[in-house]
Amino acid sequence: MHIARLNHAPELFFSLQGEGISAGAPAAFLRLAGCNLHCSWCDSKHSWSNSIELPPHEVATRLRELPAKRVIITGGEPLLQANELVALLLLLPPDYVIEVETNGTLPPPPELLLRVNQWNVSPKLPHAGNSPNSLQPRVLTAFASLPHSWFKFVVTGEEDWADIAQLGLPNEKILLMPCAADRTSYRRLLPIVADICLAHHVRLSPRLHIELWNTRLGV
Ligand code: SF4
Repeated sequence: MHIARLNHAPELFFSLQGEGISAGAPAAFLRLAGCNLHCSWCDSKHSWSNSIELPPHEVATRLRELPAKRVIITGGEPLLQANELVALLLLLPPDYVIEVETNGTLPPPPELLLRVNQWNVSPKLPHAGNSPNSLQPRVLTAFASLPHSWFKFVVTGEEDWADIAQLGLPNEKILLMPCAADRTSYRRLLPIVADICLAHHVRLSPRLHIELWNTRLGV
């Protein structure tokens, strides 16, 4: 499978989940390479094409060496490597909690449904600068039907809410978080996003990695 390359090494690391419903949880991270979107503000552009190929058994060994039983598979877009992901997850102990971060453009593969404990779906709104079909309502509806799915939206302001609302997702599964590349812009936008959450009765998600480590990669 193709792992994002960072500092000449495959991107596997131990950190805290920065976003979403399990924010703050210690976890092992695996960043897969390649994405089918090209968001203008993507903070993982290095993962688009810069990769190291490792077999799933080698990746499983490296993940087991990290001090966490929560594993967060991120990218890039991990579901572009769904077959390899199935092979990897079969090699991890059954008591490991598996989270998958996805942009919600590819349907959840049936082989993964029984093993993935949490789907963190992050559909990209028009301000990300992708083509209009980067929002796939039918795929998002399929994710919404899963019991452990959440939708986290990067937002720039109240004007984004109309795009979110027209997707028809359940409010109780929606989290909003600031569109910010660094700590200064994150802190400026956080109270604005909090007000949007209060106005529309959805959750606010932190982006702890920005608050803690600013623009550093691999954390
Ligand atoms: S979907 Fe995620 S990884 Fe892909 S370009 Fe957008 S922000 Fe980057």
